Amino acid sequence: MTTPKTGEMLHLRGNALDKGEPVALPLTQSSMYHLPGAPDGHPNYGRVDNPTWQHLEHVLAHLEGAPCLTFPSGMGAISAALFATVKSGSRILIPSDGYYVTRLLADRFLSNLGVHVTERPTTAFGDGGFDGFDVVFVESPSNPGLDMIDLSAVAACVRAAGGITIADNTTLTPMGQRPLDLGIDVVVASDTKAMGGHSDLLMGHVASRNAQIMERVKEWRRVSGAIPGPHEAWLLHRGLETLDVRFDRMCSSAQVLAQRLAGHEAVKQIRYPGLPNDPSHALAKAQTQRFGFLLSITLESEAKAEEFINACPMLRPATSFGGVHSSAERRARWGDDVDPAFIRLSVGCEPVEELWQAIEASLNAL
Ligand SMILES: *Cc1c(COP(=O)(O)O)cnc(C)c1O
Repeated sequence: MTTPKTGEMLHLRGNALDKGEPVALPLTQSSMYHLPGAPDGHPNYGRVDNPTWQHLEHVLAHLEGAPCLTFPSGMGAISAALFATVKSGSRILIPSDGYYVTRLLADRFLSNLGVHVTERPTTAFGDGGFDGFDVVFVESPSNPGLDMIDLSAVAACVRAAGGITIADNTTLTPMGQRPLDLGIDVVVASDTKAMGGHSDLLMGHVASRNAQIMERVKEWRRVSGAIPGPHEAWLLHRGLETLDVRFDRMCSSAQVLAQRLAGHEAVKQIRYPGLPNDPSHALAKAQTQRFGFLLSITLESEAKAEEFINACPMLRPATSFGGVHSSAERRARWGDDVDPAFIRLSVGCEPVEELWQAIEASLNAL
């Protein structure tokens, strides 16, 4: 697996510039393009083309090592990948413990259109095999449980059985894991999280080396109208320029915090793939570049969990994750099948000692 070359990424635009052009990416906020005569090869309308998206997609393609298309949210990207690959009568397999809105999409919309939806927990994902599934959707690590599956093995089995695989790679980003390099057919991601990284935008993308699938995804975007706003695209591009630095800091801090939290008496249980005794550790070592910036802790009770989250001055009590500000929440409040005192913690870019002092003080005060 290759790590994206982020130095090259930072100069993708600069190395193609003509004298006098702006170094920073211009934001093209226009629905119309000046288009006399034959429209061939020129941007023609804002639902179809936008130079700001195009450059963003060029940068994302560099990170993913594959062509990319952007969408106005992670769910926009997931919808596009699924609508481009299923039809009435298709059988799809999705994780029962993955991102819950993906399950809602499958259960409440795809199944009404004659798509047969099967759910399995990530830890038993291969039980029953993959024969007969047209699309197998995976999330590794799963959100919020942080369980992992062997992506290469699943990709090979599904391919042998004639199906295609889609991986939601939101939690690790291409800096942490590149599922396409492991044989997965399509990657989807919410760029709302660490890719954008500043909690100020929603975006998503689809990446694949399968040209036919990408053609369908592009057609879906043009026809459904699920297009990103140019301003969001511009903000995401700006966020990507610091992804490497932010992700590196966040993962390093998460490792330090996980080790210290594991030894704190207020913490009943901890999950972090970077801890040697974590159930995901072996798979994480084999298929990811980094162990990520998400960890989970379970405290003694729901009340203590709430108290901790709300009192700690360096944890935003907020849903979503991947921002520069560390954040935390009790996932049971959304109905995730976890302990009421289970907290998902997203480690941000604060200096780790400052962050630890705040977390430790709040735990000690419980
Ligand atoms: C947030 C998230 C999504 C959905 O992304 P939006 O940008 O909120 O639409 C999908 N998958 C995972 C794993 C997520 O965390």
